Amino acid sequence: DAAGIDAGGTLVKIAYVKGGVRRLCKFRSDRLTEAADWLRKELPAAPLCLTGGKGAKLAALIGRDTEMMPEFEATCAGIRLLLPPALGESAFLLANVGTGTSVHVIDGERNLRIGGTGLGGGTIVGLARLLTGLDEYEAIVTAAAKGDRGTADLKVRHIYEGMEPPIDGDLTASNFGRVFPGAVIGSGEEGSISREDALASVIGMVGEAVATLCVHAAAAHGVKTIVYIGSSFNGNAPLRQAVESYTRFRGGEPHFVENGEFSGALGALLRL
Ligand code: ATP
Ligand code: MG
Repeated sequence: DAAGIDAGGTLVKIAYVKGGVRRLCKFRSDRLTEAADWLRKELPAAPLCLTGGKGAKLAALIGRDTEMMPEFEATCAGIRLLLPPALGESAFLLANVGTGTSVHVIDGERNLRIGGTGLGGGTIVGLARLLTGLDEYEAIVTAAAKGDRGTADLKVRHIYEGMEPPIDGDLTASNFGRVFPGAVIGSGEEGSISREDALASVIGMVGEAVATLCVHAAAAHGVKTIVYIGSSFNGNAPLRQAVESYTRFRGGEPHFVENGEFSGALGALLRL
């Protein structure tokens, strides 16, 4: 038995082997004791390797000898297990959209962190709470999926009003640029914006910003394939859609990896 544990800013991801079977599970990072109790009970004697920003804190709660591994190393090692073999053969960009976003170039055995942005899943949850009062992730993504970005976002064609725009008129000219003076959320009055529409625009903004960063980074490193991972895509079809369509529009080749958010945990498990 053994477990690799990636304790991130929002979620603890665990990849473990017990009785010869490999399994994955998650806990909340704001309840680290639950993860520690579970590990002590389910894997009382197994070697553990931890990674992620809250790895050391969780290790202290577990209270026995554990291994530690740098987060980016773990993520880049673990992603190999999840990719279709053909994809890993040439260099690609890896974008880990977690609480925040971290971007890496992976070329064979080499990997390099080339940047990131504070825009990520945490931004979606934080702005959603401020704008709508919805606190729970499930409620936020469910509401967002019913929304329409057309209410708050200004497109290029809105600015060019019937004239021939110099770029695709359907592109976003300004995220939230269509919010007019006095607008409020959810009042139902003329000019107000529904919670659903506001949330759809928040997600669109994060998705476009992340994809923009990635296509530029990919171009700078001469790669086309961009692999997107992170729990931020879980249950969040609008985010996936925004990232996918903008990446394609800019000539990149987006891939979304099933269970990709467990890359760090799998990388840590591999270390044991
Ligand atoms: P980081 O790597 O930045 O330290 P992390 O590893 O905790 O953070 P992920 O688990 O990859 O990050 O993604 C966290 C994001 O996933 C949240 O910000 C939120 O948008 C989304 N998310 C998905 N499922 C949940 C959930 N059950 N509860 C809270 N957030 C969730
Ligand atoms: Mg993470």
